[in-house]
Amino acid sequence: MQSVAVIGASAAGLFAAYLLARKGVDVRVFEQAERLDPTPRTLIVTSRMRDLLGPIGERAVVNEIRRFELCTDGRVGTIQLERPDLVIERSVLVRELAGHAEAAGARMLVGRRFVGLEASGEGLTFAVERIREGGTEGTYAGTVIGADGAFSAVARAGGWPQLATLTLIQATVRLPPDLPPDTTRIWFIPEDTPYFYWLIPESPTRGVLGLIGEGRRETSRRLDRFLKTRRLEPIEFQAARIPGYARWVPIHQRVGEGDVYLVGDAAGQVKVTTVGGLVTGFRGALGVAEAILNGGASRELTALRRELNIHLLIRRALHHFAQKDYVRVLDLLNRSAQRSLGAHTRDEAGKLLRHLCLLRPRFLLLGLRVLLTALSQRRP
Ligand SMILES: Cc1cc2nc3c(=O)[nH]c(=O)nc-3n(C[C@H](O)[C@H](O)[C@H](O)COP(=O)(O)OP(=O)(O)OC[C@H]3O[C@@H](n4cnc5c(N)ncnc54)[C@H](O)[C@@H]3O)c2cc1C
Repeated sequence: MQSVAVIGASAAGLFAAYLLARKGVDVRVFEQAERLDPTPRTLIVTSRMRDLLGPIGERAVVNEIRRFELCTDGRVGTIQLERPDLVIERSVLVRELAGHAEAAGARMLVGRRFVGLEASGEGLTFAVERIREGGTEGTYAGTVIGADGAFSAVARAGGWPQLATLTLIQATVRLPPDLPPDTTRIWFIPEDTPYFYWLIPESPTRGVLGLIGEGRRETSRRLDRFLKTRRLEPIEFQAARIPGYARWVPIHQRVGEGDVYLVGDAAGQVKVTTVGGLVTGFRGALGVAEAILNGGASRELTALRRELNIHLLIRRALHHFAQKDYVRVLDLLNRSAQRSLGAHTRDEAGKLLRHLCLLRPRFLLLGLRVLLTALSQRRP
């Protein structure tokens, strides 16, 4: 029987473990934390999560979003979603995935930190530090999957370079009275961030307000200032560094006769338009499971690569948008363009872009103009 060791018991790793274990693969999951009790984090995902996980993720859904409100320079545009986005609590999702992986036959080994690997016979021997008891043990597996996040020790051991990362920080706040709980508000303020600020309701009274930036200190300072100008009191903060997708990371390496794969944040599988990594990490896990079960081939990975590259292209244009460009985008958002944006999710960027450009070719022209201006300014 094939033996697979998954390093990291979070979203991507546990989904890969579940998919493989239910096909009869001998799966062990190694997690450095001593208990499967991840810190709470409120996330928003598209309905694609339901397509991928089926009922597994349902208990983690705390709210549904039916409308996006886009704000820039005093203007507001709204997009009605055909299928609601899901607001989820990551700690519940991780526990649910762990339960399903175990029920399918995967074994969970907590308090075990991966520290290195080497080729051994027909597979790999890898070293795992025992957190509570102390000491290191050597373990054997035919295949190792690194699902250990943005600073993956498996990637390091397999010879992959460290990925560049971004800071994501958000504060839990009481919802302002003018924001309905089924609406996410986005602010584009390019002088503060080439990304955006968001306010995502997690219940009728509470939400998370956050932003993406480069350095932790500067990003926190901007968030504090933004909270103050809107008279919102932070209740608690959630933050971590997330990889910013810069190019497709080959997800497989041979080490001697053994196989090493990467999934999720460890492989930089993050949509760089919105810096959302959950659905794309699940798709990466599905792709790696397909590759292991089918001896290398995976249509999911080909599709995921295409999707992440389209997000990169859009990000390259957005990164140089000035306030006036966002104002133009909102002005271009006529009814048919709004319908197209509401009908396609962020997890089908290719279709979305094609529809928008057919409906409103000026979207494409605007993006191209900004991109070309940015490129010409870079020349000496
Ligand atoms: C504030 C914030 C808001 C976010 N909002 C969104 C959002 O709205 N939508 C969205 O899609 N994404 C969002 N993200 C990104 C999303 O959370 C991540 O992309 C996703 O959680 C990555 O999952 P993962 O399983 O790949 O890795 P991780 O969740 O990072 O898990 C890695 C696991 O590996 C374990 N580990 C690490 N090193 C070792 C080791 N050496 N040995 C053993 N175990 C190890 C860790 O303890 C952890 O359990 C947000 C991130 C942040 C910080």
